[in-house]
Amino acid sequence: MSECTHLIETVKSYNEDADLPRIERAYEFAKKKHHGQTRASGEPYYTHPMEVAEILAGMRMDPDTIITAILHDTIEDTDATTEEITELFGHDVATLVNGVSKLTRIESQTVEGKQAENFRKLVLAMSEDIRVLIVKLADRLHNIRTLHHISKPEKRKRIARETLEIYAPLAERIGIHKIKEELDDIAFSHMNPEARESIVNRLSFLRKEGIDLVDKVISELSTLVTKAGIEAKITGREKTRYSIWRKMQRKNVSFEQLSDIMAFRIVVPDIEQCYHALGILHSEYPTVPGRFKDFISTPKANGYRSIHTTVIGPHSQRIEVQIRTEDMHEEADLGVAAHWAYKQGNIQEALAGAKKYRWLRELVDIIDQEAQAEDFLESTKLELFQDQVYVFSPKGDLIELPQGATPIDFAYAVHSDVGGKCVGAKLNGRIVPLSTKMKNGDQVEVITSKNQQPSPAWERFVVSGKAKSHIRRFVRQQQRDEYMILGKAMLQKIFKTEEYEFTDKAVSSIAHQFQNMETFEDIYAGVGSGNIVARDIFKAIFPSHKSEEPVKTIEETAESLNKGKKKSSSAMPIVGLIPGMAVHFARCCHPLPGDRIVGIVTTGKGVTVHTIDCETLERFADTPERWLDVSWGDNDDDSEGHVGRLDIVIANTPGALGVLSIVIGKNSGNITNLKITNRSSDFYDILLDVYVSDTKHLNNVIAALRATPEVVEVERAKGR
Ligand code: MN
Repeated sequence: MSECTHLIETVKSYNEDADLPRIERAYEFAKKKHHGQTRASGEPYYTHPMEVAEILAGMRMDPDTIITAILHDTIEDTDATTEEITELFGHDVATLVNGVSKLTRIESQTVEGKQAENFRKLVLAMSEDIRVLIVKLADRLHNIRTLHHISKPEKRKRIARETLEIYAPLAERIGIHKIKEELDDIAFSHMNPEARESIVNRLSFLRKEGIDLVDKVISELSTLVTKAGIEAKITGREKTRYSIWRKMQRKNVSFEQLSDIMAFRIVVPDIEQCYHALGILHSEYPTVPGRFKDFISTPKANGYRSIHTTVIGPHSQRIEVQIRTEDMHEEADLGVAAHWAYKQGNIQEALAGAKKYRWLRELVDIIDQEAQAEDFLESTKLELFQDQVYVFSPKGDLIELPQGATPIDFAYAVHSDVGGKCVGAKLNGRIVPLSTKMKNGDQVEVITSKNQQPSPAWERFVVSGKAKSHIRRFVRQQQRDEYMILGKAMLQKIFKTEEYEFTDKAVSSIAHQFQNMETFEDIYAGVGSGNIVARDIFKAIFPSHKSEEPVKTIEETAESLNKGKKKSSSAMPIVGLIPGMAVHFARCCHPLPGDRIVGIVTTGKGVTVHTIDCETLERFADTPERWLDVSWGDNDDDSEGHVGRLDIVIANTPGALGVLSIVIGKNSGNITNLKITNRSSDFYDILLDVYVSDTKHLNNVIAALRATPEVVEVERAKGR
């Protein structure tokens, strides 16, 4: 009887056909190779791989996986070679053991916090066969079970933290909940034993207080929604100790405030019923403010959809409720659910719409065809994240890039300046060509030079969007600079011939009249590249120019407009008035030259001029004798300014108001008053008065505003 009897018995119990002597040979091999090595516990080293194999046998894994577990540390830690393993146990086992060894090698890299997600992806990408990852997770589980033997507290903490940040989430991702929760729990007990202990006590106290509270809440929630005619599946559970702790940390709540230890899920057939169920819940129970989140209308970046809310439930307990449809539920749990869902018998349904998890769907197809789980594991490659490559920066940061990425892509991912100045690169300490395709786990160092510029040739081999667009933008900018110099020279020539002073500002002021043009630089580039005729620019600035007449520059015109508001109203060019009569422009409709207008005689005040469509006029419908037929005189010298009033909706973003005033300024409008009439988190409603010469001018301002991305809506304000 050897020490592997128990393992062999276990495997035999679920797999009668297994080649048991082969497992025994693996045991002998590992024992021999690890001879003389001990664990921190003082036990012989080979007991560790045997325990890992036991964990996997408990999960009913196939013989190759069991053997891989037994051999998993031989390549890294002993003189065993791939060739030896291939010869003794076959190519498949050798490949698997190599896979686990690769993961062990990157394991020594310490990563923290936000790097953890990339590290998890790297592990997934390197686990070409899902069994490699499963063995690695079982390995980690045994290591953490025996972590107390490690004497250095810092080392224990580091391993515990890594487990929480990397391995437990990975276990969750591939659906091994049991491992995930044990990893979480043991790691937690090393990271923060006091906190864990108090949560354990608190939970058992609460459980004593209300036995089967979870079931009671489920049944009451269920009665409630059923009464409303909603067909719902309701589930509930006590949260795990570690997840409760994380919530306490995140929300910064004290222990006594921690009453929401139960989580419930309501799964309904369609989106409408999600909101219906939410409505019922919110009208039945008091809601906890700030806890409502609608990820259905605004899904999370990873595509997660659900409604979250917290209410004071039937037994005065805070309960967290997630509401989602069947589809959303399956999407959210996929990766987790493959195995489990198979046993539930609704695997196809569970996978519908899960396009992201192609590898998982393939798994399922195989499960359906082959009855044996081991067959599917054998013929399946883990394709998740295979379209990405993960490389380390010299500081140990892990950078995610598309498959086929080169050091140039890496440099641009670090910073666009680094990308632009890249002259060379080292991969794992060796100089390589900039076009070299990088591999998972490579360490990359870029060499930069102040004098380097992005090369158009790079565009041929870079693969990341960021690098491509930066290189392209640089090339385009260079071309544009040349066009601008040419365009400006062409315009200067025309202005000189016509004897006008040439300014950038004059060109700016008419830029908006040309499609896709915003600045004088756009215009120069447009003229230089031949997209715009230089003469058209001149005509736009001086529309009524006849060669012999002197014409004001656009600056002078704008200046006189701005001064205009100081002039008296008596000079207004209205035709059809009784001489000597005082005249005002109505503040309700702000008539402008070009508008059709009407005068209303107001006793003691003279005549008030309204636009013909002004709503105020209804009040004078019964007194037609007060109406005066007036119109604008055609006075060419009229440089008088008039107030135009605009209703504007702009996005509530930094700088939006600045953009608004710049656009109006560019169009020679002068803002005389601005009032924010309504402010929401997304938009401002603004009432704005602007000095303009006439309706045509105002319409130009409106057109320019409509072309401005920050402006959502703009209308001439009437009747306010
Ligand atoms: Mn190990």
